Parts: sequence; structure tokens; C-alpha cells
Amino acid sequence: MSSSPYLVGLVGQGVGPSLTPALHMAEARANGLDYVYRTVDLTTSGIAPERIGEVLEWARALGYNALNVTHPCKRLVIEHLDALDDGAAALGAVNTVVFEPHRTVGYNTDAPGFGTGFGEGLPGAATDSVTLVGAGGAGAAVGHALLDIGTEHLVIVDLDVERATALARELANRHPGARVEASEFDKLSVLLPVSDGVVHCTPTGMADHPGLPFDAGLLHPGLWVADVVYRPLNTALLTAAREVGCQTLDGGHMAVHQATTAFELITGITPDAARMSRHFRSLVGEFPTVSTTSEGN
Ligand code: NAD
Repeated sequence: MSSSPYLVGLVGQGVGPSLTPALHMAEARANGLDYVYRTVDLTTSGIAPERIGEVLEWARALGYNALNVTHPCKRLVIEHLDALDDGAAALGAVNTVVFEPHRTVGYNTDAPGFGTGFGEGLPGAATDSVTLVGAGGAGAAVGHALLDIGTEHLVIVDLDVERATALARELANRHPGARVEASEFDKLSVLLPVSDGVVHCTPTGMADHPGLPFDAGLLHPGLWVADVVYRPLNTALLTAAREVGCQTLDGGHMAVHQATTAFELITGITPDAARMSRHFRSLVGEFPTVSTTSEGN
């Protein structure tokens, strides 16, 4: 074991059931690191999210090396940091805070997590024209990642059209070479037939929000389908897409790679992504369905 132990935390509301502590600690153990990862649940601790600045101060004073930050603090934390990396600044959201000796730095590993997971699970898939369903935190990260990997035409739909419009404007400003626009939810019937792929970024399909986010009749074999929902991995959307013959990507790829990137930022050690992925899938209790998909692992 390393002589300098790591102390890391996950701060947010309802983080108790998170798989992230187990994922980080097992990988640290495999790398011979003495690494403790704790959850700090703001709800059960009775700490208002607006007090995230104090939480950072306490964590530094208590000897934490880093914190992962999640809902609802990803934006609130920014004003309490000394520096932001480019990705976090572009997204306006932070999910990893590293306590350096003289400064506190914020990163966002969600967008690179999706980008790496996409390359792993759908290698070579066409990304010229993509439809993004859901313009919340995950949708923003995925939108940035898609434009970073070369999407030329991105259309964003959300039940909240204003939210989709605001995200489209923000992404277009950051990526002036691409065509980024918002559209009405009911235009999916026009958009999906001419898209290379669709990424689903709403909570629909999670264990407590079961169902399909849109009519499965709109799926066709020429469309790849990515879901960011990862509990369960095999969502109703992905099951329907596989039945139609679409290539699919489950949300586990993004979840694992946001964790591999965070682990490397915290420790300086490149983790074994395949090992973390196997561990993640065993924790979720599911493995990818192999049919017409090209998913990794
Ligand atoms: P959010 O609440 O910030 O955003 C969700 C958006 O979806 C909202 O804008 C809402 O208006 C929209 N929406 C809801 N139902 C819709 C529907 N049927 N059609 C169109 N739009 C709809 O949520 P979020 O933080 O972006 O999280 C969304 C999902 O992504 C969750 O299931 C979360 O667990 C998952 N997620 C996965 C990863 C990963 O690593 N795989 C990372 C982050 C979030």
C-alpha cells in the first residue's frame, strides 16, 4: 500500500446508493493505493446545497484530496473554486474538485466520459447528424462531447423547448463551425429518419421512471441509439432499438469513463478502464446485450 493515503468524497443529495465509492476504491486497491471514498449526503446531513462552499472548506481542512460533486451542486460549486479547467468552464458545471496545495480546481469529466465511452462502444459510427433528446445536465455534457468529436448538425429536443433553445444557443457559441438547433419534441418523426444517431438524456427508463422517452416506431436500423441512463443498463429504449436492428450504446460507458477520468485527475494514475467497466457492470448486475450492437467489453 502507498504511504500517502487518499481521502475522497462524493457530495450531493441522495448519493447514498451511488456505485462510485466502490468503483474508485476497488481500482485504487488494485493499484496498491490506500484510498478511502466516502459519500456526503447533503439531504441526510441537513446541509443546504447553497452551503457547498463551506463543505469545500471543511473537506480541505479534514484532509480530503478531492471531491466528486453531483446534483444539485454542479453549478453552485463554481464560485467557490480558484480555477476551472476548459471543459468545466465550457459546460458551466463541475463534477470533480481537486484540492491542490494552494488552490482548489474544478473539472468536468461527464463530457470526456461520454466521448471516450462512445469511441469504445460505437467505434466508427457516423456522427455527422445527431439528435439529442434531453437538454439538462447530461444533455449539455453529451452535446459538448458530440460537437468535440465532429458532429456537424446537432438538433436538441426537450419537453421544455426553452431549455433546448438555451442549450442550442450555448453550444452554437462554443462550436461556431457546427449547425446546432433546437426543435419541438413532436418533430422527432421528421428528425430521426435523417439522423445518424440519437442520444437519450432524460431520466425516462430509470428504474423509478420506467418506459420509453419517445415512440419506438420512430426507430430504424440505420440509426444508432445511445442512452445515458445506466440503472438499468438495458433500458426499454435500448431493448426496442436492438429489436429493430440498431447499434446501441448503454449509459454504463459514460458512467465508467467519467469515473476513470476523475480517478486519474485525483491520483495521477491511469486506471484500468476495462477492469473498472467489468466491476461497474457487476455492481449494476447487468452485462451488455450482444446482438446487433457493437458495444465494448
Ligand atoms: P436533468 O433533470 O438535468 O434534465 C433532464 C431533461 O430531460 C429536462 O430538461 C427535462 O425537461 C427533459 N425531459 C424529461 N422527460 C423528457 C421526455 N420524455 N422527452 C424530452 N425531454 C424530457 O437530468 P440530468 O442530470 O440531465 O439526468 C438525465 C439522466 O441522465 C438521468 O437518468 C441520469 O441518471 C443520467 N445521467 C447519466 C450519466 C452517465 O454517466 N451515464 C451522467 C449524468 C446523468
